[in-house]
Amino acid sequence: MIKFLDLSKQYLSIKADIDLAISTVLSDTNFVSGYQIQNFQDEFASYVQSKYCLCVANGTDALEIAIQGLRLPPSSDIIVPANSFISSSEAVTRQGHNIVFADVDPQTYNVTEATIRACITPNTKAIIIVHLFGRPCDFDSILPVCREFSLKIIEDCAQAHGAYYKGSHVGNLGDVATFSFYPGKNLGAYGDAGAIVTNSSDLFNYCRLIANHGRIEKYNHVIEGRNSRIDTLQAAILLVKLKHLDKWISIRNSLASQYIYELSSVLPYQFPSLYPDSQHAYHLFVISHPKRDSLRSYLASLNIQTGIHYPISLSCLPAYEYLDQSQYTPVANRLSHNILSLPIGDHLVPADISYIVETINSFEKA
Ligand SMILES: *Cc1c(COP(=O)(O)O)cnc(C)c1O
Repeated sequence: MIKFLDLSKQYLSIKADIDLAISTVLSDTNFVSGYQIQNFQDEFASYVQSKYCLCVANGTDALEIAIQGLRLPPSSDIIVPANSFISSSEAVTRQGHNIVFADVDPQTYNVTEATIRACITPNTKAIIIVHLFGRPCDFDSILPVCREFSLKIIEDCAQAHGAYYKGSHVGNLGDVATFSFYPGKNLGAYGDAGAIVTNSSDLFNYCRLIANHGRIEKYNHVIEGRNSRIDTLQAAILLVKLKHLDKWISIRNSLASQYIYELSSVLPYQFPSLYPDSQHAYHLFVISHPKRDSLRSYLASLNIQTGIHYPISLSCLPAYEYLDQSQYTPVANRLSHNILSLPIGDHLVPADISYIVETINSFEKA
């Protein structure tokens, strides 16, 4: 069986360090404000080359708090890519703003200057850019339109730990960025966790206030905030795992290169290229196929698990029927029927990739 995700193999490879980190937290019993939290925030900030890192309870809270931290006028329009996970748009509505879904490019599955421009209203104040699948979005091509309309830029880096864009780690391109440490992400905790990173001390301090009940002292609350903290246990686990992240990202990259090389003679599909001095984090390896569903069943029948990210574009979800925007995102809607995520990750070896490609090849010939 080639699993889409297998966290047990990775745990066994770092078991001694993880178990020690966990037992240290258990004996310290400092479950919500252990020293591991500050240590991890410092190390993660330095890993992503950002000045400040605030850990929160999960990646969705990170987005919500980052948006709140920007203090936009109430009911602002915020642009969200139509092909993403629902967190990207939930965060907008939960902060009292309006979602405007942007269509995507058929090659990169991401927004473009033109699809952003088509969404601009007099009320547009911000955009959430998503480094979807771990591929840094085409930032330089969308920056001019963001500047022209003074849009605040929130980077959703939930899938992009380890990704670089023209020499800088993602998370430094806009005003504020968010990460998720959901267990299946490139850097995953053993439960929920997330982070906000920024180079603005003002934004960092305000987000920190929001995430901790608006308090400056134990019972002195200067604003009404909320509770969104990372557990010490998760920070301790992430500290161990961060040391291995670059190695895991490079495994993902080498498996992806193998896929691209071996698939080039099998599928007509073109993989989007990268810019110089940039790195894809390959959280997901996504292909597009006109007979996606039958290919997926065929692979499953030969014990190859796959995923779909995402089977329904955000604008077509029942949750967003009320927005009535699906007609503006035809490319995202069409892609949702053709995209297929093949297994990738440090649980796999090159022979697995060759087997998957051979199986796709036999499907093509059948
Ligand atoms: C996983 C994910 C999130 C949410 O992260 P959680 O930690 O699960 O809340 C947000 N955006 C994208 C693009 C994601 O893939």
